[in-house]
Amino acid sequence: MSELDLHRLGLGTWQNTDPEQCAESVRTALELGYRNVDTAQGYENEAFVGRGIAESSVPREEVFLATKISTANLAHDDVLATAEESLDKLGTEYVDLLYVHWPTNAYDPEGTLSAFQQLYDEGKIRHVGVSNFEPEHLDEAREILDAPIFANQIEMHPYLQQTELREYAAEHGHTVVAYSPLARTEVLDDPVLQNIAEKHDATVPQVTLAWFLALENVAAIPKATSADHIEDNWRAYDVDLDDDDLDRIADLDRGQREIDPDGAPWDS
Ligand code: NAP
Repeated sequence: MSELDLHRLGLGTWQNTDPEQCAESVRTALELGYRNVDTAQGYENEAFVGRGIAESSVPREEVFLATKISTANLAHDDVLATAEESLDKLGTEYVDLLYVHWPTNAYDPEGTLSAFQQLYDEGKIRHVGVSNFEPEHLDEAREILDAPIFANQIEMHPYLQQTELREYAAEHGHTVVAYSPLARTEVLDDPVLQNIAEKHDATVPQVTLAWFLALENVAAIPKATSADHIEDNWRAYDVDLDDDDLDRIADLDRGQREIDPDGAPWDS
């Protein structure tokens, strides 16, 4: 069993950049029961996330904390130097998971991943993660690393169900961490999800997140800022979808991406 099985719902923090607000979102989530927090160098909020953890009543060792190395920092020496900066900002001796944010820009499989391996061997990162990796990038990374790949963080929601990468993850023993799990709010107006939500006296975000909880080998990290949204999402654990609901959500898959930059790994 993966540790992420215990932390199937986490808190995303992209664009939560106001220092007070970001620290408060993290603190609120931890007090409610969340134990999985996702940030990145590129979100420019590692210090506020760290403050939120420190100011909560939850001990650091009970939190599964993940950050990501920005693509500009993926040269070997830059990985090592900027990982230290991230630890400083987060106010911690280690992170639970460090991701390669994208296999682009300064990403150099041998150089980048040997630095991740070193950080792993030194105990500064408990697990190695990758993000936005396609099967060919995963194949290559698995050849280079001694450490197991723990997670591939990819966009996933009812409109982009990522069957191939989920099957790859199941076969090779890593977890899919779903980013933009609410399709960046696109799901809110979906009539099928609204109908299922009505049936369960629940909200659309709860139904969407309950769908992730019903799948295997997937964690989801919805970003929520206000206490209302953070709590609404957490209550997905109370929603029990039946087979008919799951079939109807499976039918929503239409390969729709919310995050699709020029030169994305899936374009080559
Ligand atoms: P998301 O989680 O699908 O959607 C976030 C949006 O949904 C925000 O506008 C949020 O509003 C709103 N929301 C959250 N809970 C809600 C609720 N219960 N009711 C109504 N609205 C609600 O999108 P995301 O931020 O793109 O993805 C989540 C996380 O994944 C990010 O924060 C980041 O940590 C990670 N991510 C990673 C990558 C990558 O390349 N690895 C890319 C994108 C995202 P409020 O903020 O106002 O609550």
